Amino acid sequence: MAALEGGGGVLELPAADRVVVVLVDGLGSAALRARAGHARAMASGLFKRTTITSGFPTTTAAALSSLTTGGRPGQHGIVGYTALVPEADAVVNQLSGWSDVMRPATWQRLPTIFEQLAAEGVPSSTIGPAKYADSGLTHAILRGADYVAAGSIAERFDAARALFDQGGRRLVYLYVPELDQIAHARGWESDRWLATLEALDAEYARFSARLGRREGLLLTADHGIVDVPASSHVIFGDVPELVQGVRHVGGDPRCVQLYLEQGSAPDARTRLADAWHRREDSRAWIATREEAIQAGWFGEVDDAVLPRIGDVLVAARKLVAYYDGRDGDVTGRSMVGQHGSLTSEETLVPLLRAGAFAL
Ligand SMILES: [Zn+2]
Repeated sequence: MAALEGGGGVLELPAADRVVVVLVDGLGSAALRARAGHARAMASGLFKRTTITSGFPTTTAAALSSLTTGGRPGQHGIVGYTALVPEADAVVNQLSGWSDVMRPATWQRLPTIFEQLAAEGVPSSTIGPAKYADSGLTHAILRGADYVAAGSIAERFDAARALFDQGGRRLVYLYVPELDQIAHARGWESDRWLATLEALDAEYARFSARLGRREGLLLTADHGIVDVPASSHVIFGDVPELVQGVRHVGGDPRCVQLYLEQGSAPDARTRLADAWHRREDSRAWIATREEAIQAGWFGEVDDAVLPRIGDVLVAARKLVAYYDGRDGDVTGRSMVGQHGSLTSEETLVPLLRAGAFAL
C-alpha cells in the first residue's frame, strides 16, 4: 500500500503504479535455501537480506489475515487453524468453517488493504484457483478486491500480466497454494514439491523479466513447513492430567490450543499448564493464555478476541505433532508437512523483490 501511495513504509519501497504481491503458501526461507539450486531466480534474492518473520500462529488463515489487513491475530481475530467460536461453544475450522455462527463479514474484524485502497480509488484484484472465488475465507480476508480465477501457476502469472497491461494504478494479490498442499501430502523434501518449486521459479523469472519501470513485485509466504514423521506424533488425549477440565481442543497439531470448561476453577489454567510443563517441556513451548499474550504472541489482543484463544497453548519446539487421539478422526494423521509453531523453519519466510522494488 505504501508503494502505491508514493513510496516509503517499513520496507522503504519506491513508488510504483502497479504492485503484485505473490503469496506462496508454505514456502519457508529454510526450505527455499535448502533447495536453492532448483530455484535460482528466487533464491538469488534470499542473499539480499530478504527474509522476514511471519506472525504467530504460523497457520494459513491467521497469517493471510495479517497480510491482507496489516493487523495481528489479536486484532483481526483469526487465531488458529481451528479456534473456539464462543457463541457456538464449538471449535471451528478457520479456513473452511464459515457459516452463520462464523460470518466472514464480522468474524475477521479489520478492514482489508483492498478495501482501504478502494476508498482511495485504487482497484485491487486477487488471482487464485476458481474453487476459492466464493469461499468464506475469500469474503473475510480478500474483500474489496475482484477475484480472477486461474487454474495453473503459469495462468495466474499471465492473469497478473494482463491486469498490469490495463495500465493505471493497481494492486494484485496472486495466491499459490500448491507447495503447501504437496508438503502436507508428501513432505517438502519430496520430488513432487521440488518439481513444483522449479515450475514456480520459472514463472517468477519470466514474469519478473517483463516488469516495467513503474511495476513492482513482492513474493512472500504465510509460513514455512517442517516434515514430521508419523513416529513423532504425540497422542495426549489418553493422558488424564493433560486433558483435565478440557472442553475443546483447537489450533494445529504443531500448536495445540486447549479450552477449559466454562466456570472452571480460577487455578485450572495454571494447573493444566503445569501438567504439560512436567511432561512436554523438553519438546514444546507451553503457555497459559495470559503468558502468551504477555509474551506478545498474538500482538495486542482485543477483548472480543480473547475468548477465541486457548486457555493453554502447546507449541511444538522439536519435530513432533500433537494429536488428541480420542476423537477417532485420523484424517490429519496422514499429514507429512506441518506448521503452526514458533521454530525458525516455520516463522522465517522470504520477502523477494523484483521490478521497481528490486534491490
Ligand atoms: Zn498448510
